[in-house]
Amino acid sequence: MEEENKCMVVGCDEKAEKTLDKSYKRALQGLSLKIEPPDAKELRLCKRHYKMVKNTMRALRGNL
Ligand SMILES: [Zn+2]
Repeated sequence: MEEENKCMVVGCDEKAEKTLDKSYKRALQGLSLKIEPPDAKELRLCKRHYKMVKNTMRALRGNL
């Protein structure tokens, strides 16, 4: 289905190009981004959100 290929971030209509595992959800929380469905086992994201999440995750890890 076409919907499955869409970025999971609520309000984003970009095509999903990257997949991240659910451990990256806390980066989404840090960015105040919501995903649909919220209990997804993996995150399918567009390039833009993928970069945002990756950068945030790196920052989070750096702060530990
Ligand atoms: Zn997106």
